[in-house]
Amino acid sequence: MLEKKKLIGIDLGGTSVKFAVVTIDGNILDKWSIMTDISEEGSLITPSIINSLKTYMADHGYKAEDFVGIGMGSPGTVNKENGTVIGAYNLNWKTLQPLRESIEGATGIPFFIDNDANVAALGEQWIGAGNNEPNVVFITLGTGVGGGVIMNGQLLHGAGGAAGEIGHMTVDREGYDCTCGKQGCLETVASATGVVRVAKDRAFVYKGESQLKDSILNDEPVDTKVIMDAAKEGDKFAISVVDEISDYLGLACGNIANLLNPSTIVIGGGVSKAGEFLAEKIIDRFKVYAFPTIREDTHIRIAELGNDAGVIGASSLVLAETVN
Ligand SMILES: [Zn+2]
Repeated sequence: MLEKKKLIGIDLGGTSVKFAVVTIDGNILDKWSIMTDISEEGSLITPSIINSLKTYMADHGYKAEDFVGIGMGSPGTVNKENGTVIGAYNLNWKTLQPLRESIEGATGIPFFIDNDANVAALGEQWIGAGNNEPNVVFITLGTGVGGGVIMNGQLLHGAGGAAGEIGHMTVDREGYDCTCGKQGCLETVASATGVVRVAKDRAFVYKGESQLKDSILNDEPVDTKVIMDAAKEGDKFAISVVDEISDYLGLACGNIANLLNPSTIVIGGGVSKAGEFLAEKIIDRFKVYAFPTIREDTHIRIAELGNDAGVIGASSLVLAETVN
């Protein structure tokens, strides 16, 4: 019976809520999205999700029994046992949001939730670059740096639910101040804004000729893609910036792998769009920091699911929570 049933994955973000109906082997049958209305302290978000689900089900003649469950990835602090979220500031959710109670109550479909980075990690582990192997670590380099750890096929949550906060691993003891209150976190140098910050700071002291350096000094808009593209085209200053970022990432990956020995560390998020060019540089530095056996066993790969990682991972949360 389970084979016929479907999964619903929901990727809740600050600008849109993405939905997908997914088969139990990971094929997307349908996907759609709605705008995230964060006005009125985010109180319209949950009703709009429920409304969208009910409309979809009615339009397609689905009943609650047609689905194994609904999985959701959410920003903020998620309590997966209670199905609640608090402190999701990009959604204006300052108070406790009883998502399971609301969504399960309205749809009659079992509801599961985890934080967005953990959910994306599950997606990549399941049908992305993790090849469904049981020991996979995911690092996402986006606006911030997040991560998820899957060991023996299970997401690792830790004592307080904060396991996998890879973005706040210290990679430079004398580094930049981080929004978390620490110093030199991976996020300060390897997020989309972090990469630009490193480039801007180094531009003032770089001695050689460089088009990228000139762009920065002339206050032209520079983002991660501009920096990565310049490095790919051979701009020596851009290469030095990417080498520095890759060293921080190689150090973080080396330490993660020495501790956990995953088969794969998957690198995703906007910065990872630089692809194999970046992966090769990270691997070179990873080899410097990884313990000899780890160096052979742990592979570093670029994420494969792109924007679908969130909805696919959210749907796989249903399987992770119901099958085991
Ligand atoms: Zn931090």
